Amino acid sequence: MPNTISTEQQNKINQIIVDSQDIHIHIIDQKTYEILYYNDRMKKVFKDIEIGKPFEVLNEVHRSLEATKGFGTSLCVLDNVTGGENSWVVRYAPIDWAGENDAFVIYGRRTEVDAGEHSDMDLLTGVSTFTHFKEQFDGILKKATEDYCMFIFDIDKFAYINDTWGYDVGDRILQKMAKLLHGYIKEEELICRMGEDRFAMLLKYKGEAALERIIEAVDFILENLQKQYFSEIKISVMTGIYILEDKDDLFNNVVNKANIARKSIKGSHKNTFKIYTPELEKKVLQEKMIEERMISALENNEFVPYLQPKFNLHTKKICGAEALVRWQAYDRMIYPDEFIPVFEKNGFITVLDFAIYEKVIQYLGDCLQKGITTHPISLNASREHIKDSDFVSKLFGLLAKYDVPLSLIEIEVTEGIFVEDKILLNNFICALREQGVQVSVDDFGTAYSSLNILKDVEIDVIKIDKGFLHNIDLSSDNNESMKDKVVIKHIVAMAKELNFSIVCEGVETVEQVEFLKGIGVEIGQGYVFARPMTIQEFQEKFLLY
Ligand code: C2E
Ligand code: CA
Ligand code: CA
Repeated sequence: MPNTISTEQQNKINQIIVDSQDIHIHIIDQKTYEILYYNDRMKKVFKDIEIGKPFEVLNEVHRSLEATKGFGTSLCVLDNVTGGENSWVVRYAPIDWAGENDAFVIYGRRTEVDAGEHSDMDLLTGVSTFTHFKEQFDGILKKATEDYCMFIFDIDKFAYINDTWGYDVGDRILQKMAKLLHGYIKEEELICRMGEDRFAMLLKYKGEAALERIIEAVDFILENLQKQYFSEIKISVMTGIYILEDKDDLFNNVVNKANIARKSIKGSHKNTFKIYTPELEKKVLQEKMIEERMISALENNEFVPYLQPKFNLHTKKICGAEALVRWQAYDRMIYPDEFIPVFEKNGFITVLDFAIYEKVIQYLGDCLQKGITTHPISLNASREHIKDSDFVSKLFGLLAKYDVPLSLIEIEVTEGIFVEDKILLNNFICALREQGVQVSVDDFGTAYSSLNILKDVEIDVIKIDKGFLHNIDLSSDNNESMKDKVVIKHIVAMAKELNFSIVCEGVETVEQVEFLKGIGVEIGQGYVFARPMTIQEFQEKFLLY
């Protein structure tokens, strides 16, 4: 007898298998997600499911199909719907229903297994899971005849996006991002969602210019995405890239190196990328060391304020100082450029700044108590503080504790801050100025929006960035230096007309002093007068009893 069965017999067998396995089935229209069919088990669990209507509860599952348009497996947890603690393994495939390839059949069952084990595809975004990516990695490299590179993309401040705009918006960003990146994947290349807001891609390496083109395209499309869907959200992506050295590169090593490159993108507020180099790895290790030591360093009082005086250019007399932190570690002196960016990234800067403020304010209080005439000291405030609504009250608490009038301090905020949240920043500055604290814009002239700051923000002092002065060749009158001189001269004139006081930092030579005086700058700070020094030295050199 031939081993063939009729369709009817086949259907009976299928039915028995389905019944015995507790499989929940439904079919949806590929375009509208309307339910076209569901089986009894499905209705038992999902009581509100209805033919002819999209089923909101499973929206997330259905949306993820859009990204794949194909066959896949996913694992999802639907506790909120089914009231149980089970996860579901869900599979789906395109199916001809009323027309050609017009529907998806989605079938799943509850499972006790651990998430990840069975899932090749990330449910939310439709791209591979990290586990699946890893499984395919070796196979691809073994066959490879070309060079490969690994990208790891990380959406900046994703938690903040979720917290502020809700998980729906966060999910949509992830889905769009996945779709966008997926567009770059060709044969023998891979993409996955690594975790929350990180994606990885294994691509053929076609030279650095090609890498940059991908990054540029991602930036461009994200910008459009942002304009179209999330107008108020700035989506920045940090990308770490590792160019594989050979085909035997181990998966963990490749991921690790791309991650090192990604993590090295510190505190940058633009979409940006880094390619792994051994020097970069060294820098990252250095930063790790800094992070490991920071808490004990604070407890051991290793962070100390140095003071650099500011001078009136005309009278040549001291008129103030700036507090600049130094880390006196047991083995060496560490300068702010090495640790401030790390602390800005991990948030420790807000703690460190207040530790420095306290030391400076305590010193001012001491001077007052001893009857020593002293000058105002400016304190650097990191961008992290503008989100802290308690900043002003904490600062005033310190002033009260040491009985220091607020006229003896000034707060410096760096110009880079002004491209950020304008409302937050204005609130921050207003809160300080309302109480009478002077606020200055540090590093003025380094951002593109410099002139807008003059008209948009209520501040007292403009601190012209040292780069400005250093670019000008005072000994030459060639076209370039002429232009630089004209720009700085008119900035100063404009700032004066708008009633800002002007300080120029980084003054290193007598010629620069003369030039600055000539264009109307009143106050200078720089090595020509004095380098930053300990409080003790400062007191000995500049203060009178
Ligand atoms: P900044 O606020 O622009 O400080 C001026 C920097 O220029 C200081 O570097 C100072 O030592 C240096 N400098 C002073 N005179 C001259 C000069 O004539 N020529 C040149 N080339 N440089 C000069 P420093 O102390 O290494 O600080 C670097 C940056 O770190 C500061 O730049 C500031 O942004 C940040 N920083 C320093 N201390 C603190 C702090 O306590 N809190 C925060 N949040 N940031 C700080
Ligand atoms: Ca400063
Ligand atoms: Ca500065």
